[in-house]
Parts: sequence; C-alpha cells; structure tokens
Amino acid sequence: MNKSCKFRIYPNKNQEVKLNRTLATCRHLYNDCLGERKRQAELNRLKKDFDVFPWGKPEWVNYYEQKRELAVTKTSFQKDVYSQVLQDVIKRVDKSFKNFFNGFGYPRFQGRNRYNIFTYPQSGFGLEDGKLNLSKIGNIRIIQHREIEGKIKTCTIKKDIDQWYVSFSCEIEDHPPVKIKTKTGIDAGLISLITLSSGEEIEPPKFLRKSEGKLTLEQKRLSWKKKGSGKRNKQRIIVSKTHRKIRNQRTDFAHKTSRMLVNNYDHIKFEDLQIKNMVRNHHLAKSISDAGWNQLMNFTKFKAECAGKVVEFVNPAGTSQTCICGYPVPKDLSLRIHRCPQCGLVMKRDRVSAILIENRPSTVGTTGINARQGLLIEGRCSGTLRGFSPEWFTFDGKYYNPGVARFSCIYAQ
Ligand SMILES: [Zn+2]
Repeated sequence: MNKSCKFRIYPNKNQEVKLNRTLATCRHLYNDCLGERKRQAELNRLKKDFDVFPWGKPEWVNYYEQKRELAVTKTSFQKDVYSQVLQDVIKRVDKSFKNFFNGFGYPRFQGRNRYNIFTYPQSGFGLEDGKLNLSKIGNIRIIQHREIEGKIKTCTIKKDIDQWYVSFSCEIEDHPPVKIKTKTGIDAGLISLITLSSGEEIEPPKFLRKSEGKLTLEQKRLSWKKKGSGKRNKQRIIVSKTHRKIRNQRTDFAHKTSRMLVNNYDHIKFEDLQIKNMVRNHHLAKSISDAGWNQLMNFTKFKAECAGKVVEFVNPAGTSQTCICGYPVPKDLSLRIHRCPQCGLVMKRDRVSAILIENRPSTVGTTGINARQGLLIEGRCSGTLRGFSPEWFTFDGKYYNPGVARFSCIYAQ
C-alpha cells in the first residue's frame, strides 16, 4: 500500500532558477511528445478517410519508442535534467492517453502556468540532515514536520505559485482487518452538509463559504483586466492564491472529518457520487461542493484502509424517495422532513437517506473506471476529435461513434 508524505521545501535563489528551468524543460518535452502522438492520430484518420492504404490496425507511437528517441536526441537543456525525470515525463504523456481511452478528457498541451510537477521515479534524490538532495539541482532546505513511514519509492517536486513542495510516495505494510463493531451510512446532501445515519450532522466551516465568495469576486476582477497586460497577470496570481487558500481549507476540513469518521466507525458507507452525477444535471455536478465530497470520500477510504477498516459505496438511486420500511415516499427538495404514511415514521430526510445508505449492499467494491464499465447501459458521446479507431469506443459490445472526445454516460442498475 502506498502512502504519500508532503513537505514544504525552501530552495535558495539559485536552486529556484534550476527548479524552474527543470519544469520548463519537462513541459517542452511533454508538449513535444504529445504533439507527436496527436500527429500520428491525425495521420491514422487521414489514411482511413482516403483509403490510401487498406485500413488495418492503426499505428500508434508508444512510450518505449519515445523514450528511445529521447536518449538519442537530447538537447543541451535536457542534459541538465536527471534522465529518469525526463522519462517520467514521457510516461505521463502515455498515462494521459490511457486515461483518455478510459473515458477521461483528451490530453492537452500544457501552458507555462499549468505545468508544475516533476518526479524522480526511482533514484536521484535523498534526505540528509535537514536537506533534500536532488540530483542536478542541489541540497534544498526542507521542513520535515513528521516522520516518514515505510520505504520511499518516488519523489515528486511541486510548484504551487510561489511555494515549493516535495511529496514522497512510500510503501507501507497493510494493516490487518479489524472486527467490525460500529457501522454508519453517510448522506452527502445537495446543500453542503453531511448527515450520518446516527443523526449527527457535519457542516463545513463558515470561513470556507467566505473564501468561496472572495474567489468569485477576484475572478470577476480578473475578467475586467485587459488580456496580456501586467495588471492581469498580477490579478491571475491573486486568483490562484485564493484558489490555493480554499483548497487548503477544504483539505484541512476533509482530513479532520475523515479522521473523525474512521476513528468512530469500523464500517462506513457512502453514496456512489459517480453514479449520482451521471443522473444529475450538469450545473449541479460541477458545483464546488462535489469536489469537496470526493476528497472527503477518498481520504476516508484511504484512512480506513490504513486502519484495517472498510469503506463501501452504494447506488444512491431513490434514497431520498423511500422510507426505511420500503414504502415509497416521494418528496421534492424543499421538503426537509420525511413523513411515512405506512409506518408513521417522522424524521429528517437526510437521516432517512443515510440509514438507507447504511443498509444497502455496495454496488461494486470500488468506484472508478473499472467499476463503471459493468454498469453502463447507455452511452452518449459528445465533442469531436479526429483520428481514433472505433475499437477504442466499444463498451459492453456496443459501438460508439468514433469522432469522440469525451463520454457522458447514463448508468443504472
Ligand atoms: Zn415507512
């Protein structure tokens, strides 16, 4: 099992220049490799359209070819970067394509302000008396606020506007499963509040709301600034710093809440948001709170695994429209109290949902791409993209239009 530890690092001026230069080199390599693959895709498309060659299997550029090519054609900039870091960049391109074929967005070229990460996948880094030693960069001051558990596997450097972080991915041993004594179900409501099946309610802290308001304001200010101007760039930094603040506040909340849940319960059930979002309309699905819920669920799942406890996801269909006795009680969003004509139960609606979630069997062990495929009954493709062979777009034996960038699918059970 992998666990990551993140620490802040404080490079000096000279090291910061080197770090920035490494990022730039990696970004250029990323864009070049991506470009090569996109050209190949376009070529495949043309060959197919004009029937120049009999259309057999499409040819693709793969990770190993690009890696081999890199070794031969290294520029002087690339020679200044640790070679495994560059190979990892090519791996990232490869991964972004694999993700795309699994239903995520089409990989994009990375602009100067988007690309902010590079990784030492095996070696080239070390920790020595309060310093992080990075090959080709130097010894950087690090604040190690906690002990590192397990064996360090990879080392990733991240730039966050004006701050730098290092994150180690460590391998730790699995915790033996604990005996399940306490159970709970959790309902993540549309209004930002979660309800436990015990009736307990958890609300995100008020300051989070406040920062979200500030973000809207700063974004509006950004839109007033002239494109390409210095003032706009300054405002852009303010906006990203506001984003960072919200992100940190939300992460903090998610860490504390998930810790509380895992400490108090041995078996926790959530609704499967991936299914829920598919059914919901787009505006809601994109709302800020969703990002928060996903994070909370991931943290809880991870912490539970570390402690040998269980987190499961269940299909949320109908949890707000049924009674615990099984009798259907339709109610719209404005109705906050559940009243059952059959058994006479009166309770807060969110708590009823939470109890139903607790009692449902889990859909699939995990959420994620693999879990999704089995559930797909209907798929619709939107967006356009050329050059992809139809075989990539077949799920469950059905054929989907090959001119596709992204899936939006409806799932049901
Ligand atoms: Zn009832």
